Amino acid sequence: MDRRCAHHAERPAHALCMTCRKALCQECAATWEGIHYCASCLVKQRRAARRGLAVGGWLLLAIAILTLAWLHARMLVWAGVLLAG
Ligand SMILES: [Zn+2]
Ligand SMILES: [Zn+2]
Repeated sequence: MDRRCAHHAERPAHALCMTCRKALCQECAATWEGIHYCASCLVKQRRAARRGLAVGGWLLLAIAILTLAWLHARMLVWAGVLLAG
């Protein structure tokens, strides 16, 4: 295997980008979570991961709000029982 870096023709390939299968030299290869990516694919990958985190965050927030609303409703019921009793 005598592949050359896609960006540096004089350098031997050190890794392949997992996404676009581009040959990368040591300098061009970016490793993220143990997987090699080229710079542009790494940016896309990170953006996608951040979007996933944001969705998870909103979901947690929604669950927290629903839980609080439920607790609040329970408290109102208890308060109503206490006042009635
Ligand atoms: Zn790539
Ligand atoms: Zn390179």
